Amino acid sequence: MEAERVSFLEISLAFVLGNGKMFLSQMQGDFFMHELGVTQEIFNIVMREAKKHGAKRVLKVEVEVGEFSTIEPEPVKLYFEVVSKGSIAEGAEVEVRKLPIRVKCNSCGHEYTAEKYDLTCPRCGSIDVEIIGGRELIVTKIDVE
Ligand SMILES: [Zn+2]
Repeated sequence: MEAERVSFLEISLAFVLGNGKMFLSQMQGDFFMHELGVTQEIFNIVMREAKKHGAKRVLKVEVEVGEFSTIEPEPVKLYFEVVSKGSIAEGAEVEVRKLPIRVKCNSCGHEYTAEKYDLTCPRCGSIDVEIIGGRELIVTKIDVE
């Protein structure tokens, strides 16, 4: 028997890790987000949405994480297996995509994507820059049946 497959977007539940402005000088700090806690949060979102949609089983979860969040895909996949044990999401495939760090230069206004440890403005060389993207953790899609 072919199960009914439903897909839906989860953009409204997107949440951003960290707040406010983040300058280059602060990047040396211990910006650390433990993947287990993050995965628990992803699992909570998945279960809440699955319940809302009357799902019997969760087949696949797609997640996007900002490069700046320091969240690595592999631990998230492993932890998801652990936290989903015994739930309708057990065995679900987890796909984690990385989003680049997006930066805006406060000196010249240039917006660009940057590597994690070099946020210097490529146009004017300024380090007075602001992170405008890259801290996200977004559950973009959940496939259920
Ligand atoms: Zn600049």
